[in-house]
Amino acid sequence: MVRLIFLGPPGAGKGTQAQTIAQMHHVPHISTGEILRSAVADKTELGLKAQTYMEAGELVPDQLILDLVEARLNQADAKTGWILDGFPRTVDQAIFLETLLARLQQTCDYVVNFEVPDEALVSRLLGRGRVDDTEAVIRNRLEVYHQQTAPLIGFYQERKQLASIDGDQPIESINQRLNDLI
Ligand code: AMP
Repeated sequence: MVRLIFLGPPGAGKGTQAQTIAQMHHVPHISTGEILRSAVADKTELGLKAQTYMEAGELVPDQLILDLVEARLNQADAKTGWILDGFPRTVDQAIFLETLLARLQQTCDYVVNFEVPDEALVSRLLGRGRVDDTEAVIRNRLEVYHQQTAPLIGFYQERKQLASIDGDQPIESINQRLNDLI
């Protein structure tokens, strides 16, 4: 059983690593970005509300995210573990998650912080070609990350849950480091 939160800037490789580790440990990979992208593609009410924020590289308002995460963690497949990728992204979201996990009588094993310098991120993201991967939107997402998400590093450090990983390495080396940690 593993319960991990993957923290880090956009393009740090969280999604790629989460997918591999989730498969190995038979736990769901819960990516709020993926859930939102499929809602946008399906033109659901959630998708229609989230779309403009996502295209601008802004965070989607908490009222759209929190219930969604709670419902997802209450699903049967999440009872024995999970990897959260892209959530929490603000201190408010982290506090919500802390309360939710206490209620579910679950604890997170580690918050894995992927460290990658901004310039490496910009070139990686430009190569990825998603609709929100234009240079102006990428710069904004990095700015949003530094302002709203990076404070979570201190938040989880204080709670002695943080493990940092050098994300500016080949995929296999990062995977190895994650496996050592788990
Ligand atoms: P990601 O795939 O994690 O890069 O997320 C893509 C986009 O979805 C982000 O730029 C945000 O607009 C939105 N998003 C994903 N997760 C969250 C979250 N936890 N809180 C707010 N917005 C989010």
